[in-house]
Amino acid sequence: MVTMCNHHFTLVRDMNYRQIPAIFVADAPGLDFLNSVATPVDEEVDWISDGEGLLAWLEQAGMVSRTVLETMRVQSTAIELDEIAAQARGLREWFREFVQKRKGKPLSAKNLRELEPLNQLLERDERYSEIVASERDDETVFEFRETRRWHSAQSLLLPLAEAMAKLVCDEDFTQVKACEGPRCTLMFADHTRGHARRWCSMAICGNRAKVAAHRRRLKEQAAS
Ligand SMILES: [Zn+2]
Repeated sequence: MVTMCNHHFTLVRDMNYRQIPAIFVADAPGLDFLNSVATPVDEEVDWISDGEGLLAWLEQAGMVSRTVLETMRVQSTAIELDEIAAQARGLREWFREFVQKRKGKPLSAKNLRELEPLNQLLERDERYSEIVASERDDETVFEFRETRRWHSAQSLLLPLAEAMAKLVCDEDFTQVKACEGPRCTLMFADHTRGHARRWCSMAICGNRAKVAAHRRRLKEQAAS
């Protein structure tokens, strides 16, 4: 395997971590977007590191339908999609700074100015509504459905903007939290009744913390 060139090596590595499903534990799509870069085991994974990754993440998040994503794949070049993914990462890191600074306390009117870049992006949205027919219990029902025009790959940023805007408008920022895991970067909205959620998930950090506490107790017992 010594002869393996660097390019091939990179490809293999990318394919491997693409197989790890993205993490959706935030209970709020705007925070799931921030969690699209994380360290699930010991290596950082950025699920939107390129155009193909962005498309896959949007599909897993249920933000864009497979049909629309297929159209985008056909209409855009790989370079164009990579460029949109870079813009999405820029947006994500800009928003992370806002959320990290503002979480744990209620938002106030003066925070709105900081969100100006997000409002500028939302302005480009081309949402519209339509009546669609669907079947329910063997009967045809009409549904009022909101959708958007997907003019170019740029449009892929709009569901992300919507998720971020909804986080700001619909979530209680006092309950927006960062996981207490020492090396964990995941964030979530605590919707539990007692607002006692501390971990991104029991499987990732909760169990790790339990094991650490147990080890600590054993050490203390041994010392006394
Ligand atoms: Zn965690």
